[in-house]
Parts: sequence; C-alpha cells; structure tokens
Amino acid sequence: MIIDCHCDTVLQAYLTDRLITARSSSGHLDLPRLQESGVKIQFFALFPGISSSLSPLKQILILGDFFWEQYEHNLEKIKLLTSSSDLVEAMESDKLGALLTVEGGEVLEGELRILRILYRMGVRSLCLTWNNRNEIADGVAEGDARGLTDFGREVVKEMNKLGMIIDISHIAEKGFWDVLELSDAPVIASHSNSRAVWDHPRNLTDEQIKGIAQKKGLVGLNFVSEFIGAPDSGMKKLLEHIDHIFDLVGDDYLAFGSDFDGTDNLISGIRDVTIYPEIIAELEKRNYKESTIRKICWGNCLRILQQIL
Ligand SMILES: [Zn+2]
Repeated sequence: MIIDCHCDTVLQAYLTDRLITARSSSGHLDLPRLQESGVKIQFFALFPGISSSLSPLKQILILGDFFWEQYEHNLEKIKLLTSSSDLVEAMESDKLGALLTVEGGEVLEGELRILRILYRMGVRSLCLTWNNRNEIADGVAEGDARGLTDFGREVVKEMNKLGMIIDISHIAEKGFWDVLELSDAPVIASHSNSRAVWDHPRNLTDEQIKGIAQKKGLVGLNFVSEFIGAPDSGMKKLLEHIDHIFDLVGDDYLAFGSDFDGTDNLISGIRDVTIYPEIIAELEKRNYKESTIRKICWGNCLRILQQIL
C-alpha cells in the first residue's frame, strides 16, 4: 500500500484532455494505474499552470471543477478525504482516497476568505508558495527572500484552526523557519528531497529535515531528476535520499511525494506510477525492516492525515 503526497495530474489531464479516472497512455497516473500499483491515497494538487493570461485563482477554480466533475461520476471508486470519517471509509473500502490540495498561496490573493472557501470546496492542504513571491511568503527562486508576511502568519493560524495540512515544499528558508515556529500542527514538505545528497534549492538541508522531524511532520520524496540529481543513475540515487534522511532522523518522517505529471523528467527507470512495487522491492533488497517500509510507504502520511483531518 502507498500514500503519495503530490501529483500534478489534475492539470496535466485538463491540458491534454484526458480523464483522471480512465486508463490512459498519456501522463504518469490515472485511477486504474493507481489501483494496479497499490496506491491507496493520492494527493491531487491544483496547480495554476493552465495559462498565465488567467489569474491563479481562476485557474484553480477551473481545475477544481474539472476534478469534482470526475469525482461525482466515480463516487463508487473514489473517496474525497475531507474528514477523519472519510479517511476511515477510504481505508476500509476498495476506494481510492483522494486529498485535494492547492499548490501556490498566490491563489488566495491576500484574502483569508478565499482560503476558507477552498476548504469548503474540499481542499485540505496548501503549499504556501511556489518558487516565487506571493502574499504569504517567498519561494526558493527569490533572491534575498523574506519570511512569512503578516498575512502569511494569519494563513498558518487559520490552516491550523480549520485542519488543513501546511505544505512547505517550495518555500524559501526564512519562511520555512517562520512556519515551523508558528504552526501548532506538524508541517509537511510534500515533494522535496535532501540537499546533502543533491544540492538544489528545492531540496531540504539537514537542519530543515531535523526541524520537520521535531515538528513530527514528513518529507515526501520527489522523483523528478532535477531534484534527485544524477539523472542517469536511476533508482539508486533516489535510494540515497532515503538512506540519508533515514540515517539523519529515523523512519518516522519519510514518505513519497512523486510529483507525477508535474514534469517530463522523471529519473531514468521510473516510467509512471506503476513503478511503486519495484521501489518497495528495492527497499527490501536494502534490508530495510518491514515496519520501516510500511511507514515510508503509507504509515507516516496516514499519521499526519489522522491527526490533521
Ligand atoms: Zn511543486
């Protein structure tokens, strides 16, 4: 069983005019392939990448409707996770649990009311920034980045209150530490790797990983070659990230956040979501204990979902 904390499939499916729920030869995942690969819960990000001529908010509303339309036609196969009882229902049935997330706090346009209406739409996690500056904080691509703004602090507090998962992938370091200090709940980096293994601004330093662990959050491993490093080394390099984080903080804070459909550049050897059984086999080969593999594959993320939803 797998819980995967990040994919951009809603956008990819919308742009290529395919259904998330129908098997496709395009993209990295769809409902049949998720089920085949043992994915039990998938986080579906709404990422405003349709067109820069539309406001980010308008884009994620369009994508949200695109998701809901398919969800409502497949209620017997998918369970949208908005509460702990939804979580129980998904876990006890054959349904895929789907967590709706938004990537990029610029969609809020500085309005807490927009955060709350997204919550009412079923969104349960927000990646506070993408790579650039927004009303909440700065992303990793901003030089001389600032931390959380006053509005950003309100957003963190409101997310704690509502029961939304705070996602700090993409945020610049100052903002990262501000969030850790301020949040009452664990925070996650849904799709980031280790900077000690591969020095990329989107990856986390050892200090950041330790900070997330202290906060009882998690780090979702990303399969994009740019963040794994050494694109031709395939799965071996992905496992180096796992080994490093495991050695640093143990097995309670690792998870998967593939970034499927968010890139054309997965590491070699990873074609699509059907790779998961091979990744599990690789972990077994490296003599990880069964209990550790279970935590990485789904246990740690389930803990976060149980706690926050
Ligand atoms: Zn991302």
